[in-house]
Amino acid sequence: MEVVLNQTFFEQCREYRFCYTCEHCAHFDDLTGQCLHGYPNRMHRLKHYDPSHPPATVLFCKDFDLV
Ligand code: SF4
Repeated sequence: MEVVLNQTFFEQCREYRFCYTCEHCAHFDDLTGQCLHGYPNRMHRLKHYDPSHPPATVLFCKDFDLV
């Protein structure tokens, strides 16, 4: 699912401690930075959502499992 990313999204992430990136997913390999399921994960990584240079949208991974 892809939704528009704006400042409100970042504010709500902080307020509700919302996790949605690979770094908080059980299927993420910390050592390699890769997805253990082999999915391309560039747009699911935390660094992709730098608030100082945010992308126009946020792309949620349907296989995300919170650690
Ligand atoms: S399942 Fe999705 S969120 Fe989890 S590590 Fe793989 S690409 Fe990232």
